[in-house]
Amino acid sequence: MMIKKRTPDDNCLLCLNKKATKTNSHIASKFLGKSILGKNGPRQGYVLDSSKPHLKPRKMQDSPKENYILCPECENYFEHLETYVSRHLSNKLLNEKHSNSFEYGINQGGVEYAICKELDIKILRLFIISLFWRCSISRVEPFSVFSIEEEELLREILQFSNYSDIKSIEQNNGHHSLLKFPIILMRPVGDHDNSGNFFYANNGNGNLYQLVLNEFIFFVSPKVDSYIPNFEFLNNIGDSHVIIALLRNETWANLRDGLVDLATKKSIENARKMGVKPYNLK
Ligand SMILES: [Zn+2]
Repeated sequence: MMIKKRTPDDNCLLCLNKKATKTNSHIASKFLGKSILGKNGPRQGYVLDSSKPHLKPRKMQDSPKENYILCPECENYFEHLETYVSRHLSNKLLNEKHSNSFEYGINQGGVEYAICKELDIKILRLFIISLFWRCSISRVEPFSVFSIEEEELLREILQFSNYSDIKSIEQNNGHHSLLKFPIILMRPVGDHDNSGNFFYANNGNGNLYQLVLNEFIFFVSPKVDSYIPNFEFLNNIGDSHVIIALLRNETWANLRDGLVDLATKKSIENARKMGVKPYNLK
């Protein structure tokens, strides 16, 4: 089926009523895109796209953008969420100067974590939901085949808090489902190798979705009252402080390799369906 190309006459996919005149909307958010490309190493990441299993993963100089999906007001709303989260996370987490903003710990199973004491959980969740929703509606690689069954629920949650300033977003209680499903965040600690950074979105098993955006891995299961087993206190359900898992280099590398394996399997599967020879990712 041919997908109709979007134009500035189409309606915004978020508010559904203004014209989607905005060009170059970032799908994966600017600040995540920056860190994904590495601070010192080669300024490039990789796109893993299992819908094009026969092609070598494309090197990526910039994070994926798309035209005519949002109106300027909704783009502005996403920018507010991003600025807030970026200000609280990108330079402060794991930075000694800001140790008062976080409480660091390690659980009995040896999982290190940070409790974000100053980060509003509603705004963080709206931001992460906006990432998953953008990846779900996006038609650019590597997100063209990624879609979330609960895309409309995510849109309703986002639209419910769609205000033009961060104060109003903060003061609004949010949609009744905003705090009711698991969202897991992970990032590496220590000097990990930036050169293996990549963007990857996976329609997981059942209602579990994963997003790898440079230095962050997110899991979401947008079914109300669901729970991601094995992650226990990292599920971030309810209105208590946000908890981020901090992974040591080896764990991080293993998780990343596991996701590359998953992408490889998906690619081989798709290649078989398409009748093409899969590109060898390793
Ligand atoms: Zn809009």
